[in-house]
Amino acid sequence: MILLDGKALAAKVKDRVAREAAELPRKPGLAVILVGEDPASRIYVNGKRKDCAACGFYSEEYALPAAIGQGEVLSLVEELNGRPDIDGILIQLPLPGQLNEERLLSAISPEKDVDGFHAVNVGNLLLGRPGFRPCTPAGVMALLDEYGIDPAGKRAVVVGRSNIVGKPMALMLLERSATVTVCHSRTRDLAQICAQADILVTAAGRRGLITGEMVKPGAAVVDVSINRDEAGKLHGDCDFEAAAARAAYITPVPGGVGPMTRAMLMENTLLSAKRRQNLR
Ligand code: NAP
Repeated sequence: MILLDGKALAAKVKDRVAREAAELPRKPGLAVILVGEDPASRIYVNGKRKDCAACGFYSEEYALPAAIGQGEVLSLVEELNGRPDIDGILIQLPLPGQLNEERLLSAISPEKDVDGFHAVNVGNLLLGRPGFRPCTPAGVMALLDEYGIDPAGKRAVVVGRSNIVGKPMALMLLERSATVTVCHSRTRDLAQICAQADILVTAAGRRGLITGEMVKPGAAVVDVSINRDEAGKLHGDCDFEAAAARAAYITPVPGGVGPMTRAMLMENTLLSAKRRQNLR
């Protein structure tokens, strides 16, 4: 069994991004908008700031009060859309209930949508056109590539159909010619379907959902989920020991997909900076 080491690959990706960024006439710039005090979101935003510093990017953070109105956030997004030094705009999710997430994400210029959540970028993915790909599934694809796991012709099963992980993951595997099945909470015979997967990507957010018998011997298993136990320890969806005993490749949690998501945000911001400086 080989561990798919996302931490190591993320470090490699960020090193390359930093080298490429240093050669640009203008540094890539990322603006991050955080609304409210959600502790997990704060940790993610701090991570993004550190990553920007490590890659030599310019970054700005807007920590807005939880009770802020839709109009004020919208004005900020519009101002950032017009800023020549900002290549990427990111709104940290989840947002407080009074804000309309869909409208705010749609307000980000698709050219600066480095999270890849705008309908234009989702449409580009569906149509197989260039655009920003969502960071988590892009990170999974980079991990598979790094370890020489070619999805072409393989049976891939994705557990989860969210807009940020499951759906784009399925499309990206399809784009690479896998035969893809998408499972969700209404799926019957989940165990039987998973057990046929050459590539199993799980993103249900349910600790213990994937047992050893659900892993086909020799499969590549990518566990996207982050489930925190009472002691604060992180777990994926897989019963790791049992899954690892059957899999040929498996991601650890933590240290698998999480660091790759962060690295892909830097990759997307670099790509945006290149495009906006007419270098790509
Ligand atoms: P989400 O929006 O809650 O979606 C979960 C999906 O899993 C839904 O489609 C749901 O089905 C499905 N599901 C739930 N229980 C299931 C079950 N028992 N059997 C089969 N399918 C089931 O979550 P998300 O935002 O996609 O995130 C998924 C997980 O990945 C979370 O643990 C999250 O923390 C983690 N995550 C990690 C990263 C990273 O960088 N590593 C990034 C993003 C998310 P329905 O659609 O039918 O409800």
